[in-house]
Amino acid sequence: MGRGSYYRWNAKTATGDLLSFSVKDLKRLRFMPGYSHTMTWKSRGQETGSIGLDLGHDAITVHYKSTPHGGAPISVRVVIPFAFTPCHYGGQRRWFMCSCSRSVTRLFIKGQRVACRHCLNLAYSSQREDVLDRLSRKIDKKQSALKNERHRPKGMHQRTFWKKQDEIYRLEDQKWKTFESEYARRFPGLPF
Ligand SMILES: [Zn+2]
Repeated sequence: MGRGSYYRWNAKTATGDLLSFSVKDLKRLRFMPGYSHTMTWKSRGQETGSIGLDLGHDAITVHYKSTPHGGAPISVRVVIPFAFTPCHYGGQRRWFMCSCSRSVTRLFIKGQRVACRHCLNLAYSSQREDVLDRLSRKIDKKQSALKNERHRPKGMHQRTFWKKQDEIYRLEDQKWKTFESEYARRFPGLPF
């Protein structure tokens, strides 16, 4: 085995180790189509990362420089389309459409990829892991019951569908609130 035995095959990157942004961040920034914004992460006064976000009507463009280990910076530009679902109480709800066609409320940045937690195979690293896992499982179950949360299954009443969508969104919100409070505890001073 030699030195290689120190490598942990099961070591997963944790959600809290990567830069990420959420649908809620766009709301918080009062982002309007046509707006551009630079999101910066800092730790102890030092900038640890930054991404540019250009908001369109149907998509958001994420751009940043990724520096591979020991290499030259690469300009990355990723367009993430939005999915919209009607809210139970009126208005529209926005989701990010990951390339895996999952609609999600948070995207992570890993190297040259901007993708959901599933695609990047991220684990929860926090003490709240069990809470997050439980919420995730609940969401997955509800989502698979709806098959694809963007389209109403045949025979399901519209109001029932909206109500179920609301539940999923509420659980996602609850999940990321837990994640954010844990993140803030681990990295005080980082914006989220
Ligand atoms: Zn994905």
